[in-house]
Amino acid sequence: MSNSDQTLRFLFDNTPIRGELTQLTRAFKEVLSKHPYPMPVQKLLGEFMAAAAMLSDTIKFEGTLSLQVRGAGQVRSLMAECRNNQDLRALAQYNDDFEEGGAILGEGQMAITIEPNQGKRYQGIVPINDSDMTLSTVLEDYFQKSEQIRTRIWLFANTKSAAGFMIQAMPESASVSSLDMTNQEDWERVVHLASTLTEEEALTLPAETLLHRLFHEETVRLYDPRPLQFKCTCSEERTANAIITLGREEALHIVHEQGHIDIDCQFCHQRYAFNETDINTLFDNASNSSLS
Ligand SMILES: [Zn+2]
Repeated sequence: MSNSDQTLRFLFDNTPIRGELTQLTRAFKEVLSKHPYPMPVQKLLGEFMAAAAMLSDTIKFEGTLSLQVRGAGQVRSLMAECRNNQDLRALAQYNDDFEEGGAILGEGQMAITIEPNQGKRYQGIVPINDSDMTLSTVLEDYFQKSEQIRTRIWLFANTKSAAGFMIQAMPESASVSSLDMTNQEDWERVVHLASTLTEEEALTLPAETLLHRLFHEETVRLYDPRPLQFKCTCSEERTANAIITLGREEALHIVHEQGHIDIDCQFCHQRYAFNETDINTLFDNASNSSLS
C-alpha cells in the first residue's frame, strides 16, 4: 500500500498534454476518524478530497481551493478544501436516517471556489444530480464548458485510500478546436492508456510505478511530488470573528444562558471556549479597532 500522501504533476513530452496523480491515505484516514460516516459517504469524501488536492495543484498561486456541494439527497452538504497545495480538510453532513443504496447527493449544486491568499475570490457553480453523473464527470464538464479546457478525470476511493487522476490539454491550447489532428491523436492515445487505470492500481501502487505501468511507451516528464496532509484552518481568531458576527447582545445572551460559548470545530474537533470576560474583551477590542 502506498502511504505517501502526495500529488504529482507530469507532462507528456512534445505534446500539449499534462497530467496529475493525487494519492491520499493518512490525510483521508484522519478525516474519517473525526466522524462515524456511513461507507458511501466515506468514499464520496475521499473522492472530493482527492479532487480538491488535484485541482489545487493546477492553480498557479497560493490560496485555497474548495469543492462544496449541497444536495437534496441523503448527504445535505459535503465539502473538501485544499489550502496552499498541501493542507486538506473535509466534512460531510448527512441525514440521521442514512440508508445505503439511496441517492447520496440527489439533485443539487456544487461550488468550486478558489480563494487566493492575495487577490479576488473566484467561484463557479455547477448543477449536479448523482443519479446520472459522478463527481469526475461534473468536473470534466466544468473544465470543458466553463474553462474551455479539455479534461478527463478519474476518481477512486475505498474506506482507506483515495486517488485522483487527471489528463488535461494545457491551457495554452485550451480550446478543443485548437487541438490539431496530430494533437488529437496524442490526446486519444494518452486518454486511452489513462483509462486502463484500475481502482486497485490507483489506490495501492506508488505513483511512479503506476505511471510507468500506464505510459511506458510515452515520454513522461515528472515534476517533484507535493506532499499533502490533513490540517485544519480553524483558529481562535477565526472563531472570535464568528462570535463577533453574532453581535455583542446576542453573544452575551448566550453566555448568560449557558455560562460560556463553546465552539467545536466540525473539521478537527478543536474546542474554543469563551466566557463573559472573553466576550466583552472581544467586542471592546473589535469596536476599538474599527474606530482606529
Ligand atoms: Zn478545526
